[in-house]
Amino acid sequence: MAQRAQLIPIRAHADRIYDIKCCIRPFRTKGPNLGVEQVGDATVIHNYGHHGSGWCLSWGSADMQVQKAMSFAPRKIAVVGSGVIGLTTAVCALRAGMEVTIYTRELLPRTRSYRANGVWGPGTVALASEAQAGLGDIWEQMVRTSWKNFRPYMGMAGSPIAWSEHYELSDTPFDAPPPAPIPMANGDPAPVFYDMGNRISDITSIPEVLTPELNPFPGVKYARHSTKMFWNFSEYGHLLTTEFFARGGKIVMRDFHAPSELAHLPEKVIINCPGYAAHDWWRDKSMIPIRGQTEWLIPQPEVNYGLTYRNVETRSKSDGVMVIQIGPEMFAKSWKNSTEIPNRAEAETAVKVVEELMSRFPTRPA
Ligand SMILES: Cc1cc2nc3c(=O)[nH]c(=O)nc-3n(C[C@H](O)[C@H](O)[C@H](O)COP(=O)(O)OP(=O)(O)OC[C@H]3O[C@@H](n4cnc5c(N)ncnc54)[C@H](O)[C@@H]3O)c2cc1C
Repeated sequence: MAQRAQLIPIRAHADRIYDIKCCIRPFRTKGPNLGVEQVGDATVIHNYGHHGSGWCLSWGSADMQVQKAMSFAPRKIAVVGSGVIGLTTAVCALRAGMEVTIYTRELLPRTRSYRANGVWGPGTVALASEAQAGLGDIWEQMVRTSWKNFRPYMGMAGSPIAWSEHYELSDTPFDAPPPAPIPMANGDPAPVFYDMGNRISDITSIPEVLTPELNPFPGVKYARHSTKMFWNFSEYGHLLTTEFFARGGKIVMRDFHAPSELAHLPEKVIINCPGYAAHDWWRDKSMIPIRGQTEWLIPQPEVNYGLTYRNVETRSKSDGVMVIQIGPEMFAKSWKNSTEIPNRAEAETAVKVVEELMSRFPTRPA
């Protein structure tokens, strides 16, 4: 018979926040740029604009673009960028037998990729009104290829990819009508995203409603339970980087200012993975900034679950308990917001929600 889980409370207090990370999601209204174009005698294969799904789509997107690169039969290629998309693309190309040089202005730990939440849940990558033809099929192929490629990292020492129980908690029934969409803080109407439907329901944990007897959270009326896969960035990033160098990859620190500079590289096939920076570096004005902030509490390895409650999500990772504000109001403030300055008040507000929830446990966190 199912039993109520015994959960260890999260020690959520403002004085345990040891880091606040802030970054921009690379949203492209048409969907990721996977196009190919010529700059002088160089062939540039784009791979950017994965919005809030770059970790999830990384291998699939890399595989697709490396195959395009291979069709030009180059012995060596260049990759611009070393975020999760660039580094994965580089490793993918090395596995395919090419010589690879990454040109980048930052290494992975300094990139926006490292400031994400990092959980499985590939979602919206385009506006419904602007999505490129066939986007659903392309997206599904990326998701499924990625999923297969993450498999070998599971169960590895250091847990580069791990799983945890996740509780969605609510004060109102889950089947209550959703609130009306709210306008964006800049005055735009609420964007309508391209709907991927239930294409990947077979590889997505479906939340199960918990009866009051099985709900482990005191004072919370409604709870749903699922299992989520997530990345521990340091461990996963270390594995990617180690493989990159072990296979002979080279890195050149470089900051490009105009596309024409690519024509001067010795490699004539280039995969361009600049993330949101494509907005300025490639002058791609269909890139829209969507701000996000995560706050990090001192690690609690004994906490093996995550939760969502009152527009706050937590996840216990190897380098800390990650807390992030989500939901329509936060989204409205984040839309077209390119501020990357951490907001301490926002961090404390989010942590307070978790602190109050944890105070309902009979054994209070120290
Ligand atoms: C708060 C938040 C939560 C998120 N949560 C998730 C999640 O749970 N799951 C998920 O899958 N995704 C998530 N994402 C999205 C994910 O982080 C991004 O889609 C992903 O990081 C994009 O990676 P990237 O490599 O394209 O870009 P970046 O990480 O920005 O890397 C770009 C690289 O290009 C280099 N570069 C850029 N311009 C130049 C130039 N001109 N010259 C030289 N080098 C250049 C940079 O130095 C960097 O190395 C989240 C994002 C945010 C902000």
